[in-house]
Amino acid sequence: MMKGNLLISSMIERAERFYPKKEVVSRTSAGVQRFTYKEIGKRTRKLASKLKEFGIERGDRVGTLAWNHHRHLELYFAIPSIGSVLHTINIRLSPEHIIYIINHAEDELIFVDEDVFPLIEAVHDKLKTVKAYIVMTDNELPDTSVDNVYSYEEWISAGDENFEYPKDIEETEPAGMCFTSATTGNPKGVVYTHRSTVLHSMSLAFADSLGTTESDSIMPVVPMFHVNAWGMPYVATWLGSTQVMPGPRFTPKVLAELIQDEKVTVTAGVPTIWLVLLKELEENEYNTESLRAVVCGGSAAPLGMIKTFEKKYNVPFLHAYGMTETSPLATVSRLKSYQEDLPEEERFEIRAKQGLLVPGLEMKVVGSQGEVAWDGQDMGELLLRGPWIADDYFKDDRGEETFVEGWLHTGDVCTVDEEGVIKIVDRTKDLIKSGGEWISSVDLENALMAHEGVFEASVVAIPDPEWQERPVACVVLKEGHETVSKDDILDYLRPQFAKWWLPDDVIFMEEIPKTSVGKFLKRALRDKVKEHYET
Ligand code: ADP
Repeated sequence: MMKGNLLISSMIERAERFYPKKEVVSRTSAGVQRFTYKEIGKRTRKLASKLKEFGIERGDRVGTLAWNHHRHLELYFAIPSIGSVLHTINIRLSPEHIIYIINHAEDELIFVDEDVFPLIEAVHDKLKTVKAYIVMTDNELPDTSVDNVYSYEEWISAGDENFEYPKDIEETEPAGMCFTSATTGNPKGVVYTHRSTVLHSMSLAFADSLGTTESDSIMPVVPMFHVNAWGMPYVATWLGSTQVMPGPRFTPKVLAELIQDEKVTVTAGVPTIWLVLLKELEENEYNTESLRAVVCGGSAAPLGMIKTFEKKYNVPFLHAYGMTETSPLATVSRLKSYQEDLPEEERFEIRAKQGLLVPGLEMKVVGSQGEVAWDGQDMGELLLRGPWIADDYFKDDRGEETFVEGWLHTGDVCTVDEEGVIKIVDRTKDLIKSGGEWISSVDLENALMAHEGVFEASVVAIPDPEWQERPVACVVLKEGHETVSKDDILDYLRPQFAKWWLPDDVIFMEEIPKTSVGKFLKRALRDKVKEHYET
């Protein structure tokens, strides 16, 4: 067999050649714009030629600080296609972390959205390697004292639309880079290769995985600055699917309108996004018939939310699991064919788990006594390996603890049932250790969020002199349900859990603190709980 060379440039070339008429719909400050793959292809070649002209070489890192839109998509292809490395920077990180990762990655050039530019103004004098900033805007360049600032549109207008992508790049060369959002210490960098990106894209397209096809209209809500928007822009371009980019600072209303107007079939995001979308769907009327999959990952999808999407709105829900280090797709939760006839409740319970490992990867779940039994009870840490799993962090000693003997130690504790389906019980550091036993904060959160008066809920441990740790529930009530009390909540949980699992307390809050990608930020929540007891 031929070796072939799995390159990212081939993905966009395929879209240009076979799907020139298909569209990328992009919401920017100028409104909703439409581009064909023919146009996107030309613009991407122009951009690539300008990067070369600027002096960007093989292996050089190029940063982006941007939302989901067509220009970011062009960068997704132009940067790796000339052999350099797309470094997507999370715009919601603290300025200190942004300075750290740009300097650590040694970015040569930064592409930045107009509305994120103030961040660059605040930190640019601490950036050691950046030679210029290219601002992505539909308007005039912002007035600024920062040197070497150019307009994206002007910059690429002088590019060569017939630029040929080099094909002497090896598939194992670096193509992309993303730092984890880091709840402690500095963020850690993960480097993706051409090969890992192409193989990961294939895994998204398996029918038993997300099963994306040319006929889909795909809207990644998960940011393009976080784990390549879960790889959706790559697979969508490769297959010639329609892409819908929700743009800067979108609201639930914007998402609902795009779903309706652009007949979105597949969308992907974290549970907190879907909670606010459900609220919008409850308050206003939209047509969501086109949706065939709301993909949800990043945190456990609450069972109550899955049921609401499917039973109330007839929108199929798909739970998936992964992390920055796994590109990210690792497991997808679908029923096996012989499970389709199970009672409804059982089917929901299976699908609320994180699911089955996607073909191409290997897993092991290891507890204190070695590999755990596949009985749905025994808990252990999930270990993964495969062609789209990282094997180290970028220039960082901390990789030694995470990548051991060829396996990624995910830091996630899970059970495996007889079918091989995993259920994430908790992150190792979030498990509540009570009297020598473990309590899953995730299970309690899931149950709480199924209560009709609860908008969102998170459970953390508080120190306990007798039991070491005890769970406390932090609850945000839905509007109109302000009378729900602590006893109501505990009475609701009581029939579902062993007595010692019940939270010792329920604290009502206005909001649960969230990470930069919308997950519950347990560290900040623990501080809030501590404050609550001290005052
Ligand atoms: P970060 O590590 O920067 O917070 P990641 O997106 O890499 O960001 O987070 C990966 C982690 O998110 C996983 O290790 C796991 O703890 C959690 N996670 C991801 N998907 C799920 C899911 N479907 N259910 C439960 N937890 C999940």
